Amino acid sequence: MTVSLLDFLAHAIAMESEAAERYLELADMMEVHNNAETARVFRDMSRFSAMHHDDIQSRVGAVTLPRPKPWEYRWVTPPEVGEDEGLHYLMTPYHALKYARENEIRGMEYYRAAASDTGDPEVRKLGTTFAGEEAQHVAALDRWLSTVPRPAMDWDEDLDPAQAVD
Ligand code: ZN
Repeated sequence: MTVSLLDFLAHAIAMESEAAERYLELADMMEVHNNAETARVFRDMSRFSAMHHDDIQSRVGAVTLPRPKPWEYRWVTPPEVGEDEGLHYLMTPYHALKYARENEIRGMEYYRAAASDTGDPEVRKLGTTFAGEEAQHVAALDRWLSTVPRPAMDWDEDLDPAQAVD
């Protein structure tokens, strides 16, 4: 792949705005499940992505960018987290963090690949910088992951409250 500056910026903007949205969704989901702490982590991550997005957008100015294909930037669900069609409604903090981590790694890999496969020094510079930022996000998620309990094997079984009372 040879990445042009405009393609790179378009891709970066799409990825960061996708990340900002997905993190807000995850934060809301964690709040529904009364996990305020994890929700806070996701709100922070959403803010970082939004800031990153605005930063890149301001470099671009009024230039019209190419439109990346949705599958190039939409978040993907790892098999351990749920179905392709969507996230499991009982997603635990552990699964939510794994989901985010998977997609941070995708972003990091895109930036790294762009930096190494380009003839444009600006893409190389930005790609390297952005890849470093994504690596920090992965590390932050890893630290948070180490504090949350691993879900039990039956985490996705919806307990019937009528039966759960002993
Ligand atoms: Zn990130």
